[in-house]
Amino acid sequence: MLGNRRKAGAVTDTSAERIAEFIELLRVNPGSEVTLANDFDPAYKADFLNKKAGKSLLRQDVELLADYQERLAGQDTHGVLVCLQALDAAGKDGTIRHVMSGVNPQGVHVNSFKVPSAEELNHDFLWRYAQRLPARGEIGIFNRSHYEEVLVVRVHPELLDRQQLPKAAKGKGVWKRRYREINDWERYLTDNGIKVLKIFLNLSKEEQRVRFLRRLDLPDHNWKFSASDARERRYWDDYQRAFSEMLSNTSTEWAPWHVIPADRKWFARICVSAVLAHTLIELDPRYPKVSPAQQREERKAKAELIAQAPEGAAADPFHASASAGKEKAVKKHAKHTKNGKRPRKS
Ligand code: AMP
Ligand code: MG
Repeated sequence: MLGNRRKAGAVTDTSAERIAEFIELLRVNPGSEVTLANDFDPAYKADFLNKKAGKSLLRQDVELLADYQERLAGQDTHGVLVCLQALDAAGKDGTIRHVMSGVNPQGVHVNSFKVPSAEELNHDFLWRYAQRLPARGEIGIFNRSHYEEVLVVRVHPELLDRQQLPKAAKGKGVWKRRYREINDWERYLTDNGIKVLKIFLNLSKEEQRVRFLRRLDLPDHNWKFSASDARERRYWDDYQRAFSEMLSNTSTEWAPWHVIPADRKWFARICVSAVLAHTLIELDPRYPKVSPAQQREERKAKAELIAQAPEGAAADPFHASASAGKEKAVKKHAKHTKNGKRPRKS
């Protein structure tokens, strides 16, 4: 029981290394059978981190994300799709707000998926998700995702009836088939440069109760409460089963699940930022190299601009800082890769 708690003692020197090891403990091994209640502890927190150190780590990761997101945009070959799943009050919105706080808003798109519209129901079940995928160079966040199709739809079979499926498509075996179709779709995306990152915020039933009460009792939090949240809570065990099945069937080599202990918000945020940072470090996007022809063009343009300098103005005010800037960038990169040691591949 609680395997990650047992293994987390085996941490080594640098924090980046610790995080890389730690992420492996959050990852669901492809093919493994998951029973949430037995395998993952929502209240878990790594021994090597307290809240204060955690906050500074989150700041570092946020900075790193901003840097890598720019490079992802520069390279423009890969997109990253972050699928965020959780029960109500697990902290999806807050996690997105904190983790993406340093990233250029132009490079990130958040899509929230609600009850499907009539038009959406009139299409195949992956249609609406496919329409909102990130482009190359972008990070796309799905706040709820195509996994609702094997979660809420599984817990409430009447939702499947509303999907107007042909008889043969809704009979026995529909969930196994959906798992396979989702795995195939994610493999297709991965093969075509869209990295799929899957995160489940694992909240305990007691912590959900407390957070619902906070929403009910504190005026500032009241808007977040909806009566349907309390209704869904009655299906807690069904959801736990649906999540366990989903994790067992859709954690793949190309798109594994990460189960994040969510009872402590600050710790969950660090985990999510670490998983995202780890993914980007592995992708290692680079700014495109300037071709010799482009370099010639640039030299020509620069000479023209320098020649246009008015009397008394610096011909090129950035000349000195340009070489200093290069040095700084090299050092920064070395910090992420060498000093922190590149997290190893799974
Ligand atoms: P919220 O994210 O709290 O604003 O709520 C969105 C609601 O939409 C939740 O109650 C979800 O269960 C519901 N929802 C999301 N996706 C689907 C889906 N594919 N089918 C039915 N309900 C969904
Ligand atoms: Mg809600």
